[in-house]
Amino acid sequence: MKAKTYLDYNATTPIRSEAQSAINDALNAPHNASSIHSHGREGRKIIETAREHVAALVGATANQIIFSSGATEGNNTILRHFEDEHILVSAIEHPSVLETVPNAQHIAVTSKGTLDLNALERALKAKKTALVSVMLANNETGVIQPVKEAAALAHEHGALFHCDAVQAAGRIPLNMAEYGIDFLTLSSHKIGGPQGVGAIALGICGIAPSLLRGGGQERGMRAGTENVAGIAGFGAAAKLAHEELGHNQSKTAALQKNLETALSNIKDIIIYGQNTRRINNTTLFSLPGASSETLLMALDLEGIAVSNGSACSSGRIAPSHVLKAMNASKEESAGTLRISTGWNTSQNDIDRFLEVWQNIINRIKDKTNA
Ligand code: PMP
Repeated sequence: MKAKTYLDYNATTPIRSEAQSAINDALNAPHNASSIHSHGREGRKIIETAREHVAALVGATANQIIFSSGATEGNNTILRHFEDEHILVSAIEHPSVLETVPNAQHIAVTSKGTLDLNALERALKAKKTALVSVMLANNETGVIQPVKEAAALAHEHGALFHCDAVQAAGRIPLNMAEYGIDFLTLSSHKIGGPQGVGAIALGICGIAPSLLRGGGQERGMRAGTENVAGIAGFGAAAKLAHEELGHNQSKTAALQKNLETALSNIKDIIIYGQNTRRINNTTLFSLPGASSETLLMALDLEGIAVSNGSACSSGRIAPSHVLKAMNASKEESAGTLRISTGWNTSQNDIDRFLEVWQNIINRIKDKTNA
């Protein structure tokens, strides 16, 4: 059995051992945080500690954080609150935004993968808008969006601003007030915590959208018995992500540079958003003329896990909506792979990938020469 090389952190991250311990500890007793007995009070304490760690990660205070089952729920909660009004979303949002509000107007991105701010301004001027939704870092390309500028434009035109910060949290410094974000969504499993838990951070606009009703949990904004163990794991992961942000940023930057230099030396490829501000952990590239499914399988046989873009669009034949929005040709997007790194990635993982990649390229060359 070959050792596994995991390079798909944007799909989900390996769980941090500290998060796993926090989950196990929380599961040791029947913690319903609404109960008044000692187990209940302990559960409440676990949740409130986690809330502080999650808040610190996004430069907020604990009372701004509402726990949810993940970013899909978070995005649904915010977008649905405004669904009867005019909404603007970037064309490269996650499906949990795009498919939740199918009538929303899409704002184009440039070929570099960044939001077209002029197009946003034109749309805001043309029609009274209630909400603008722009993600902070794209899950496929890693390209960082001009969120501060977009939020300022939204506010100038009387609209509120939502930001899906799932892929940016723990990868770039994040202060929601500085960015002017009214609603921010997070997911635990992208920062080393467990799946099935996330949070909404509320800004100062005073609006608190809620989707699930029927209980007073989370100050009445998210009904349902809290996932105490999941929240404990999320809190532990958020604490580490915050503490290790600087280290993680410089480590992944070095890995990204080494990877992209070596990849380009092996064979001509297209690296999406290469000269644009990106999160350091993501490299989306294309080998024009190749099939990403074939490449993925060849890599998987060697124990290497990467993705062909977003995990959500994997398995679909259609080209990614993100690459389409960036005007990538069909031929180009058919041979796309995404490598995404994180807290447990080392140069050895990159070297192992490059060794296998070189062999794949040699095989392709031999075939075309045969
Ligand atoms: N937004 C983005 C940008 C994502 O990458 C993901 C996960 N693929 C989500 C939202 C959904 O998060 P969750 O898995 O917590 O529902």
